[in-house]
Amino acid sequence: MELEEDPVSPIEAVLASVIKLNVQPSRDGSRKRHQPLTLLWAIGRAVRGEERMAEWPELKKAVAGLIRKFGKAGDAATPQYPFVALHNTRLWELSEPPPRDHHLTWLNSADPPIRGGFTRPLHDLFTRSRAAADLVVDQLLHDYFDDADEAALLGAVGLADVAAARRDFTGSLTYNAMVARRGEQAMLRRLLINGGARCALCGAELPETFLVAAHIKRRTDCEERERRDLDNVAMLACTLGCDSLYEHGYIKVSDGGLVELSPELVGHPRLHEHASRLAGRAVAAWSDSSRHYFAWHATNVFRTQARDEPRQDR
Ligand SMILES: [Zn+2]
Repeated sequence: MELEEDPVSPIEAVLASVIKLNVQPSRDGSRKRHQPLTLLWAIGRAVRGEERMAEWPELKKAVAGLIRKFGKAGDAATPQYPFVALHNTRLWELSEPPPRDHHLTWLNSADPPIRGGFTRPLHDLFTRSRAAADLVVDQLLHDYFDDADEAALLGAVGLADVAAARRDFTGSLTYNAMVARRGEQAMLRRLLINGGARCALCGAELPETFLVAAHIKRRTDCEERERRDLDNVAMLACTLGCDSLYEHGYIKVSDGGLVELSPELVGHPRLHEHASRLAGRAVAAWSDSSRHYFAWHATNVFRTQARDEPRQDR
C-alpha cells in the first residue's frame, strides 16, 4: 500500500480501511474481534519500535492469547484467519502470497516462517506519530470493544500508557470523546505543520507554538465524515489574532478564496486595525475541496449586517 498515492491524507486512509474491515459475525451477531485484536497487537509493536514484520509462530501465540481473553464468547482462537485475511486490506502484508486454502497447514509448515505486518508506510506512521496510533486505537476500541475491559486489553497489547491515561477519567463517553479529540487535534496540527509553519490567514511564518489547527467549519457542527476530512476541514491559524477573528466571525474567506472583513469591525477600532491587514489576502487553504467548509462559516459564523446598510469598513 503506497499511502502517499492516496488522494486523502495517510491517517484518513488508515481510518477508512479500519472502518471498512470485513469482519465475520460472531455467534451473538456482533462482529468478531480477530482482526481488530491483531491490529491492536501490531500497533503496540510499532509504538514500541519493534520490527515491522512478525513471524507466524510469534504472532500465532500472541494473537491466540488475545482472542481467548478478549474475543467474543464462543470464538475459536484461530489467529491464522486475521493473519491471512488482513492481507486483503490495504493495511497489512505477508512475506509470501497465501495459497487459496489450507492456510493453517501452509503457515505451520513454512520454513523460513511466513512473516506478516503493517505495510511499511503505515508502520512508519505509527512509529513516528503516537497521535496517529492513538487515533486508530480509539477507532478500534469504539467499533469493537464497547463492553471489553479496555485497560486490560490495552495492557495486553503493550499500550498500557493509553490505559493509564484512560483510567484518569471517569465517565467513559466523555473521556473517549476527549481522547479522540486530543488525538485528532495533535494529528491535525502535525499534518498541517508538515505543509509549513505558516498561518493560513495572515501568511506569517511563526514558531509552531503560535499556530493551532483551526476548523474551517466549526467542529461541533461537522458530521463524522467531515471531521475525518482532515486535509480539508482545517487550516493552520495563528493565535496572534487570526484564529480568534475567524472563529468569532469577524473575518471570512469568500468564495474565491480571499479574506473579507465583517462590517461589524467598524464598531471595534482596535479589532479593525488588527484585521484590516488581512483584507483581500488570498488564502491557500481555500480549494475546491474546502470551499464548502468556508461557505458554511460565511453563512453561519460570519458577522454580516443588513444588505441595505452601507458597508462602512471599505
Ligand atoms: Zn495569522
